[in-house]
Amino acid sequence: MSSTVCFATARTPRWDYGASQVAGLERLIERMDFGGWIEQGEYVPIKTHFGSPGAHRVVRPRFLRVLADAVKAVGGKPLVCDTVRINGWDYLEVANQNGINVQAVGCPVILADGIFGCDSIEVEAGPVLGSVRVAAAIYDATAMIVVSHCKGHIGAGYGGAIKNLAMGGAAGRHRSGDWKQARGHLHAASGESTVVRDAELCTMCLQCLHVCPTEAISEADGGLIVDEEKCWRCGRCERVCPEGAIQLEKRGEDEFQMALAEGAQAVLSTFEPGKVVYFNFALEVQPECDCMPMADTPIVQDQGILAATDIVAVEQATLDMINRAIPLPDSLAADRGVEAGQRVLTEALGVDGQLHIDAAAQIGMGSQAYELVDV
Ligand code: SF4
Ligand code: SF4
Repeated sequence: MSSTVCFATARTPRWDYGASQVAGLERLIERMDFGGWIEQGEYVPIKTHFGSPGAHRVVRPRFLRVLADAVKAVGGKPLVCDTVRINGWDYLEVANQNGINVQAVGCPVILADGIFGCDSIEVEAGPVLGSVRVAAAIYDATAMIVVSHCKGHIGAGYGGAIKNLAMGGAAGRHRSGDWKQARGHLHAASGESTVVRDAELCTMCLQCLHVCPTEAISEADGGLIVDEEKCWRCGRCERVCPEGAIQLEKRGEDEFQMALAEGAQAVLSTFEPGKVVYFNFALEVQPECDCMPMADTPIVQDQGILAATDIVAVEQATLDMINRAIPLPDSLAADRGVEAGQRVLTEALGVDGQLHIDAAAQIGMGSQAYELVDV
């Protein structure tokens, strides 16, 4: 059965507010009928990504404000949230630097897994993951709005709502310090990867050390060592190394993509049906995740905002839209020789984000058939 995906274009051909992207978001909110599923006084996490010190292309606070105000207008209590990536105190400061604070968005801005990233509840997941530690403020909430900046991702190929929930709905840390009991569990779904470094090729530029989220890489005796216990196999070091000197023994891509679907499904299993809606922002579609230390130029022009109650449908519609767009000059897509008519994001990154959308459909999370409705 086909699901409806509503779409507000980024094009603003008329000089009036009604043609703006902000007004388009307001029309999408009307279509998502907040009053029909948000109860009086109900806490409503608005799950987004706060970015990083160098990744500024997050969903803008202006849009978060419109969503928060709409929740308040129907009697709900919005909370803009993300989960810990770097340490919690600094991550809240990153949010502030990117304009995501109470003054801008009009509601509390919180870390759903607490300031230390350890507040979580273990939830059963599918056979690849077994279980996921869901961030407590998401677990305890009864309604949620998933706001995703849609772009590339180093391991997933495409990062939208599924990745936002799977990675971002899981707690960043575990009290034991064991990364396998927190978000890193998803990265290492196949459990077999090992970082290998070729000292002959390495120029000691230290880019890998600076990009590592777990501080697993350190200098020693004029070279580098990788602490395998700390490493959660995210692949960042491999991606940034200009010399090809650091590699992960290849994990099963299928397992990782299925892990994403299972992780998102586990997070959603803590909500009753009809209590979660999705807003996908296909704006500033850059090739990297918002947790990388920088944001490259977009690979396609701004498309607009998509909204739906079906996570698979909204993801399929978004990826289709990005992949069918015209690749932009001065972007990674141009660097990689991607031409119009090719699947832009997939070809530019060389990783097929379609796989985790297929996996989500396969485990019954929604419909890949959709009807796109302009609003
Ligand atoms: S894969 Fe590389 S960047 Fe990622 S945690 Fe391991 S050492 Fe750090
Ligand atoms: S990024 Fe590559 S070349 Fe630079 S220090 Fe790391 S392994 Fe060596």
